[in-house]
Amino acid sequence: MNELDSELVTGQLRTLGYAMTPDREHADVVLYNTCSVREHAEQKVWSRLGEDRLRKLIRPATVVGVIGCMAERDGVDLIRRMPVVDVLCGPGELDKLPALIDNAVRTRESLLGDEPPAGVELDDRGRIVLEDSEERRRLTSAAAVALQGNTSRRSGTLAAAADSLELLDLSRSVSPDEHSGSAYVRITRGCNKFCTYCVVPFTRGAETHRPPEHIVEECRRLADAGVLEITLLGQTVNHYRFEHGASVSVGGVVQPQKGRSYQGGHRRDPFAGERTTTFADLLAMIHERVPGIKRLRFVTSYPRDFGDDVLEVIRDHPRICRYLHVPAQSGSNRILQAMNRGYSIEEYFEFLDRARAFLHQPEIGRPLTVAGDIIVGFPSETDDDFRATAGLVERARYKNCFIFKYSPRPGTIAFDKLADDVPEDVKRRRNSELLAIQQRVSAAVGAEFVGRTLEVFVQGVSKREAKRRQGASGGGGIAGGSVALTVGGKGVAVAGASCSAEASIVENPPAAGDVGGGAQLTSRTDGDLIVLFDVPAGRSAAELIGTIVPVRIERSEALALHGTVTPAAG
Ligand code: SF4
Repeated sequence: MNELDSELVTGQLRTLGYAMTPDREHADVVLYNTCSVREHAEQKVWSRLGEDRLRKLIRPATVVGVIGCMAERDGVDLIRRMPVVDVLCGPGELDKLPALIDNAVRTRESLLGDEPPAGVELDDRGRIVLEDSEERRRLTSAAAVALQGNTSRRSGTLAAAADSLELLDLSRSVSPDEHSGSAYVRITRGCNKFCTYCVVPFTRGAETHRPPEHIVEECRRLADAGVLEITLLGQTVNHYRFEHGASVSVGGVVQPQKGRSYQGGHRRDPFAGERTTTFADLLAMIHERVPGIKRLRFVTSYPRDFGDDVLEVIRDHPRICRYLHVPAQSGSNRILQAMNRGYSIEEYFEFLDRARAFLHQPEIGRPLTVAGDIIVGFPSETDDDFRATAGLVERARYKNCFIFKYSPRPGTIAFDKLADDVPEDVKRRRNSELLAIQQRVSAAVGAEFVGRTLEVFVQGVSKREAKRRQGASGGGGIAGGSVALTVGGKGVAVAGASCSAEASIVENPPAAGDVGGGAQLTSRTDGDLIVLFDVPAGRSAAELIGTIVPVRIERSEALALHGTVTPAAG
């Protein structure tokens, strides 16, 4: 979700004259798109802001902005802790960001100009020589602060807020230069589940669903721009349902009506009439109306919300990927209840068995792959609870599982009400134990593909290749996955911190055009398995990246398959 937000923000800034710069050090505006789901991502932001504080002593006109969940959750407290921050913008206010930045840029320029403040001495490498001083602190904190925090679930203004955000999504750039064949499309915003460890319902607000015609049109524009693979996004993506004409709204965005929310189960949504577009309807609609999209996938799914209708649509539409990312979070019913997940482990297994019965057809080359998320060390988790989770990981046969140690996140129900009582060394031990089990399971799942030929979507050079080439050129990647922009001669750096374990940041890969035969490329199957292969002799990376090619799998590791490009799929 954060990656898409970064893309929308940078696209919007570009249309206003801002341009990319690969250099956070010399950017005129530095933006951090933040996540408060994981403590580690948050610590990274604090550390970068600390660096910016020093950088501002040299370039006081630099504007620093924090956007996303941390901004929303902490509000002005964030500025009190880090006065270097000039702009705060929550995920529900991103349409206002250009105005906030513009305001901050003008204010800082009029106050400070672009020169180091008087009294600041720099050495020949541009570093500060003098000690910090009151005067410099005053100058560097003279910020034009623009704060648009969304601190509540604003039911009264929800439709209006959703409309503005809808315009942001609709205005996205679909230029072929910006998409190497794959793109995200948001279908829902916010979440109504209130898992006790999660801040998303408070920072992203109540769940709203985008009109299906907007989504289909966005997919069509992306397909026309050469995109082959689309991932539909939502916090609980399979809970999508759009009720046509249910409420008046400029952008056409509506919320599910009270008392008519789909409760999941085995049948088609019993409330879905002709005036309702369900998630199953939406998948079928995109598949039928946008044939240019060769792969359609979606993340992240909520276990309780899968009806047979969705599974049937996936089964019957060949371009919908047979891949489900369905976090269980724990194998213990007691912990699931404390997490307020809304299902029992028996229901989760029932869902997995049903999904496999519908979709796992390796005999016709269409296996189902499943990924999960687990939190270990949740408050009060006992050894027995953990054993139940280990049993879940063995039985679920995830192709991969994102395993996290619990850390209390401010702003969540668990932070306020549950003691973080599992010692750190116990969390660490459980985490390692689970990782070892998952590694074994992943290796076994991967081994089943050896000897088969799979269609893979080629994403770019592999991490190994990128490192090798950076080593050879003496260059380095951009720290922390910063993406930089320049804005009308102004440099803007946007640093991403992923909210979803699913998303990742590709750091400064070498240009595909530079890479020839023998270089290692990375790709994904429709089941989201990573496949690494070398560029065949006589071909270049540039012609393969962004396309779908057949690869014969020769060996497997826990995290990746290795193979060779073949002339035809089998
Ligand atoms: S964990 Fe997922 S389902 Fe639960 S509240 Fe957070 S976003 Fe919603």
